[in-house]
Amino acid sequence: MSIRKAVRKVLEELPPGVVLAAAAKSRTPAEILEAVEAGVEIIGQNYVQEAAAAFEAVGRRAKWHFIGHLQTNKVKRAVEIFDMIETVDSVSLAREIDKRAGAAGKRMPVLLEVNSGEEPQKAGVLPAEAEALFRAAAALPNIHVQGLMTMGPFEGDPEDSRPYFRVTKALFHRFGGLALPGVEMKWLSMGMSNSYRVAVEEGANLIRLGTLLFGPR
Ligand SMILES: *Cc1c(COP(=O)(O)O)cnc(C)c1O
Repeated sequence: MSIRKAVRKVLEELPPGVVLAAAAKSRTPAEILEAVEAGVEIIGQNYVQEAAAAFEAVGRRAKWHFIGHLQTNKVKRAVEIFDMIETVDSVSLAREIDKRAGAAGKRMPVLLEVNSGEEPQKAGVLPAEAEALFRAAAALPNIHVQGLMTMGPFEGDPEDSRPYFRVTKALFHRFGGLALPGVEMKWLSMGMSNSYRVAVEEGANLIRLGTLLFGPR
C-alpha cells in the first residue's frame, strides 16, 4: 500500500479526538512529505539530527514531536525545531529544557515519559517516581506539561500491552486531578502500529505509527 493510502485508511478509522503522529525515524524527507500531503499533522522524530534534515523539506507544514531519548547537548536544537517533547523522564532533562526554552523566549510543551513496564534498560520515569517528576516539571516556568507518553514493553500480542496502557492512564487521571497551576493534562500518547487499537480503547488520544504508514523499516 502507498503511504498516502495507508495514512488515509488510518485517519478514516480513528475515532474523533484521537490524533495521529507519524513516527518517521529512518524515513526520507520525500516519504515524510507524502504522509503530510495525505493528512498527517504531526511528525514524530527520535533523533534531532535526522529531524533537522526532514525539517528542511517539510518545515512548519506539520508539527514536530520529539519521541526519542533526548541528550542534554541536543536540547538547544530540539527546542528550536520541535513543537513538543514527548519524552521528558528526569528532572535534570526538564531543567535543561526549561533553561533553553527560556533563553529562546519559548514555553515548551512537554509530555512525561512513563516506563510503564518498569524495564531497567528502558527510558521513562518509573510509575512510583512519576509524581515527583510531574510536580518538579510543573513548577518550571518555561515548560508546559501537557500529558504523559509511554511505550510499554514490546509485545507480540497487542492485548499484552493493555496493562501498561492502564498504568499510564491511571497516572494521567491522577495527575490531572491534582490540578496543579500551569499544567494542562490533555495528551495521552500511547500505542504503536501493533498496539494502537488497544491503546485507543485505553484512552490514548495521541498515537504514534511508523510501520503501518510507511511499511517495514
Ligand atoms: C518507532 C517508534 C514508534 C512507531 O513504531 P511502529 O511499530 O513502527 O509503529 C512509536 N513510538 C516511538 C517512540 C518510536 O520510536
